[in-house]
Amino acid sequence: MSTKRDYYEVLGVGRSASQDEIKKAYRRLARQYHPDVNKSPDAEAKFKGINEAYEVLSDQEKRATYDRFGHSGVQGRWGDFSDFGFGGFSDIFGDLFGFGPRTGSRRAPRRGADLRYDLTISFEEAVFGCEKELEIPRYETCRRCHGSGAEPGTSPIRCPQCNGTGEVRRTQQSILGSFINVSTCPGCRGEGEIVTTPCTECRGQKRVRVTRTISVKVPAGVDNGTQIRLAGEGEPGTRGGPPGNLYVVLSVKRHRYFRRQDNNIVLELAINVAQAALGDQVMVPTLDGDEILVIPAGTQTGKVFRVRGKGVPYLRRNGRGDQLVMVQVAIPTELSDEQKELFKDLAKTLGKEVIPQEEKGFFEKMVDFFK
Ligand SMILES: [Zn+2]
Ligand SMILES: [Zn+2]
Repeated sequence: MSTKRDYYEVLGVGRSASQDEIKKAYRRLARQYHPDVNKSPDAEAKFKGINEAYEVLSDQEKRATYDRFGHSGVQGRWGDFSDFGFGGFSDIFGDLFGFGPRTGSRRAPRRGADLRYDLTISFEEAVFGCEKELEIPRYETCRRCHGSGAEPGTSPIRCPQCNGTGEVRRTQQSILGSFINVSTCPGCRGEGEIVTTPCTECRGQKRVRVTRTISVKVPAGVDNGTQIRLAGEGEPGTRGGPPGNLYVVLSVKRHRYFRRQDNNIVLELAINVAQAALGDQVMVPTLDGDEILVIPAGTQTGKVFRVRGKGVPYLRRNGRGDQLVMVQVAIPTELSDEQKELFKDLAKTLGKEVIPQEEKGFFEKMVDFFK
């Protein structure tokens, strides 16, 4: 991830650039590097990079995440973007950016921020489960000073300005009488204490940025958008508050043949006219290897066969869904002379009668199947 260029740099704007400036920069660069226009060999890669940067910086939530966590905060999203939305994560973002109601004073313990990691896994990994090692950059409590910010052997002093309360009170006189104005102490920024000898490790910041390798078990049967919560793996709390959580949000790559429908796996299978008319035994791929499927004589296009127990495992109970094999009868487009003659002979025996049919699409046929 460190090899990735900074998104602001890619667009050539400053970190404080307005949405308008970002849009303008994007348009200018997109025109310049569009592969239809720019024939230099690296134009396409540049164009992709520009789009990626714009995708993040033009969205306020994503930009804020990026500002805070860098590429790792928004990474993993570029594989299969279309299936994936940001919807439903307002709770996480609420925690991340402190949108939620702030309870208590600055000196009360506060829970650490939640982190989000977008993980792309293969279709098979989603079906059978897997274990992944994640590199998570995050803040952790400084070990040298145990989060006090003060160099070991020294201790912070009580703020003389507020006497350690973190607040300053001023009595103001008005025509309605006197009232007390309470504000955060400017001397200690509400902390109540002042570090005079900052810790050499964290430079008084109380926390340090580290990259942790965390392994996550992805259970069998997960799908796009499934969230795995790793309790306590977020950022540390302050003043003894508990750490936040790490949410691993999954996106699943498409499979070459298989599509998922809840816990069933749908496979479309092309058979030829003779197999459909006369019947056959064929081998069909499943996620557990090839299986024999018996095609009865007279099988029509759209017919769905069920291979039991070869679908996706249920997340919260035992058992698996089925594999549904939907047959398409492929009509040959190129015939040898011999095949042509055979079809002509066949045609003589079949006659010329045509029968209007009610048209049904793939989805309706599936619905019929489940009825
Ligand atoms: Zn103070
Ligand atoms: Zn420290």
